[in-house]
Amino acid sequence: MERCPICRARLKSDPVCPRCGSDLSQVLSSAAKALALRDQALLLVAQGETASALRLLQHSLLLKRDPMLVALQNFLLDKQLRQAVSAFKQQGYTEALSMTKQVLDIKKLPLALALQEMLFDKLNGAVQELDFSEN
Ligand SMILES: [Zn+2]
Repeated sequence: MERCPICRARLKSDPVCPRCGSDLSQVLSSAAKALALRDQALLLVAQGETASALRLLQHSLLLKRDPMLVALQNFLLDKQLRQAVSAFKQQGYTEALSMTKQVLDIKKLPLALALQEMLFDKLNGAVQELDFSEN
C-alpha cells in the first residue's frame, strides 16, 4: 500500500498515517494476507488444482479487490464448469454436483444453475430407482 486509503497521503513503513494519524495496521495485515493467499492460489493453478485455487482466490479477493485476480477467477470458474460438464457426461453426477456448487457459491452463472438442475434430476432419479428395485 503506497497511499493512505483515508486521506491519500504517501505512506512510509510506519502503519500510522503521517497526515491523518489513521492506524492502518489492520488494513496492511489484511493486504499482506491477501497477497499470501494469492501466491498460494497461483501455485495451485500451476499444479492444476482448480477447486483449491478457487477457494484461496475467493478468500484473497474478499480481503483485497484485484481486477487481475477477478479475471483469473472467471477463467477458473469457466474451467471448473467445463470439468463439471465433462463429469456429468461420464455420469459422475456427485462429483459434477460438488464442482457445480463451488462455482455457484462464487458466481451465479446461468450454465451452472442449469447444470445443477439437471444433476438434481439425475440424482433424484437414481434414488427413486434404488427405492423401486428394493420393493
Ligand atoms: Zn491518512
